[in-house]
Amino acid sequence: MVQILKSPEDLRAYSKSLRAQNKTLGFVPTMGALHEGHLTLARTALAECDACIVSIFVNPKQFAPHEDFDRYPRQLDKDADLLSTVGVNAVFAPEVDVMYPKDFQTTVSLSEVTKPLEGEFRPTHFTGVSTVVARLLLLVGADKAYFGEKDYQQLQLIKQMAKDLAIPTEIIGVGIVREKSGLALSSRNAYLTTEERPIADQLNVILKTMASEFKSGAAISDIERRAAQKLSDIGFGKIDYITIRDAETLLPPTEETKSHRILAAAFLGKTRLIDNISAD
Ligand code: AMP
Repeated sequence: MVQILKSPEDLRAYSKSLRAQNKTLGFVPTMGALHEGHLTLARTALAECDACIVSIFVNPKQFAPHEDFDRYPRQLDKDADLLSTVGVNAVFAPEVDVMYPKDFQTTVSLSEVTKPLEGEFRPTHFTGVSTVVARLLLLVGADKAYFGEKDYQQLQLIKQMAKDLAIPTEIIGVGIVREKSGLALSSRNAYLTTEERPIADQLNVILKTMASEFKSGAAISDIERRAAQKLSDIGFGKIDYITIRDAETLLPPTEETKSHRILAAAFLGKTRLIDNISAD
């Protein structure tokens, strides 16, 4: 059975004991409600490191007041069972007041990579993410930490932050795990109704069409316009973005762009879905 750690002191003691045994340590931060995507991160960590710690913390700082912090799914016992089956060594599952004691004062924020896309539509989100991930990375002291490409912009900013702050943990990106239909696995898929599911499946289909249009030389603005129209036609509501960007800066491609990424965020009913694929 996986060990559940609740305090930073217990976490530090645990990772120190692994170090004392000369074990390399992988770390996977999550918000719980685990699915095969999260488990793939843990399996990758265990394949590359001697031990793996997973954190489960629904981080209030990365939710805006109108977002789904209160109704975000929480299922620690079930998650712990799933992680045991994968062979994860320990789970760090702190309460909010343990992660953010009353006198907590520090904010970590990045200036460029956080500006476009998610930064435009969820302006406080990434500061919450970088602050909690910096604290977690420093608490765990892992050799490698694993993040999904599902949150592509988040992965880019965490790589940048680890570099800027000289955090001695290597940041590793892991490919998106999908349903057979192509729908990217997400804890938020649990919000989708039976009627919404097949519509949600189309998001990835539309991204793939964009990639093939891009490869055959169509103009980016035309590709984006057609894709947005298609999303609306099949029943998506507000479209935050569906766009082809420079895969590194996440800005519109320029002559210096080496690789391209197609990224989308759109609402289906009350659920905000995100997805991304390579365009090259
Ligand atoms: P979350 O619990 O949603 O904060 O996600 C925790 C980590 O799992 C993040 O690094 C996500 O990018 C990653 N993740 C979530 N869904 C997937 C997926 N379908 N495939 C790969 N990684 C994922």
